Amino acid sequence: MTSVRGVDAGEIIRAIRVATDRKSEALSLHEPSFSGNEWAYVKDCLDTTMVSSVGKFVDRLEADLERYCGAAHAVATVNGTAALHLGLEAVGVSEGDEVLVPTLTFVATANAVRYCGAIPHLVDSEFRTLGLDPAKLAAHLDETAELREDGCYNRRSGRRIRAVVPMHTFGHPVDLDPLIEVCERFRLALIEDAAQGLGSTYKGRQVGTFGRAGVLSFNGNKIITTGGGGALLTGDASLAETAKHLSTTAKRRHPWEYVHDRVGFNYRMPNLNAAVGCAQVEQLAGFVSRKRALAARYREAFASVEGVEVFSEPVFAQSNYWLCTALFESADLGQRDGVMRATAAAGIQTRPCWSLLHRLPMYADCPRMDLAVAEDLEARIICLPSSAQLAPA
Ligand SMILES: *Cc1c(COP(=O)(O)O)cnc(C)c1O
Repeated sequence: MTSVRGVDAGEIIRAIRVATDRKSEALSLHEPSFSGNEWAYVKDCLDTTMVSSVGKFVDRLEADLERYCGAAHAVATVNGTAALHLGLEAVGVSEGDEVLVPTLTFVATANAVRYCGAIPHLVDSEFRTLGLDPAKLAAHLDETAELREDGCYNRRSGRRIRAVVPMHTFGHPVDLDPLIEVCERFRLALIEDAAQGLGSTYKGRQVGTFGRAGVLSFNGNKIITTGGGGALLTGDASLAETAKHLSTTAKRRHPWEYVHDRVGFNYRMPNLNAAVGCAQVEQLAGFVSRKRALAARYREAFASVEGVEVFSEPVFAQSNYWLCTALFESADLGQRDGVMRATAAAGIQTRPCWSLLHRLPMYADCPRMDLAVAEDLEARIICLPSSAQLAPA
């Protein structure tokens, strides 16, 4: 018995070992897997010298993502943060606007808002999804926002509220239908931060395809990786055109002239990265099913462990279980950190959720609602080793 303030860390370690069927090896939180055509496609790039901003793999990756996600358009970018920035720019988020974002998210969600000169307005989460709480947001806007001819305004700050960026935490979809209703009622643009959600569905449809735009990340720790990379998904052809134009230094199409019609960005994904991405997309369905199987094994192994429970997707969703999540019964940071220390000593990497945005110095003064649920979750979440390879094929 290795008790850490009321939970038995030894039992937790045993449950992780049983679920992953790894008796003593070191387990990291998440590792990529390259067992498909990665080498062949990268070799093709090197053999043809098409390593950079032009090449067939970029177009092919975009087409593959469109097909997999059921999105009309995909625009591949250097990373997910860049895709978020492009999406926000393309829907018109500008200097002095406010954008609603969950306080429980990776910092990039808020950084992209700041790149537009806009201000994050922090929103609470709900226990069912670990994501943005649409009912609490609606109540908050009823109390603090007002609709004018040209949009929604924050009565307290006087600033326009332009958009909402929900984030699918650890891959688990937020409740999108009521959120879409809130967006319609308050005339807000919906941009999904689906960086962690590729392969997850909400009521049968892939996340990232519900808003004006959705954003994916292919960073090394995500469900598929291109080294670094991301993509913007949208059903809107002109938004896709704008995003692609902005991502390629806003250069007008011409056989030799360098004419740029606005301040653009160098955000286009290189062909070398896209080559890895094409090979990874081929394996995506397999990664998702292995991660779902791993989550089920964790649920079973943790069933007898007291004081902690493995998070399960809500009924309206099928999660990719990008990171399997355990929730402690009590919100006790000392307990959480004690368990992480004990797993680390046993060679098992576990991680908390991110520091809530309102605790970071650059976002401490942002407008916000009551954030009690996110603060409670922060003390109760730990993420378990979740590589697809840890589940039986
Ligand atoms: C990974 C991630 C991003 C950013 O993606 P990068 O490709 O690392 O720039 C944005 N938002 C969330 C929630 C993420 O997890």
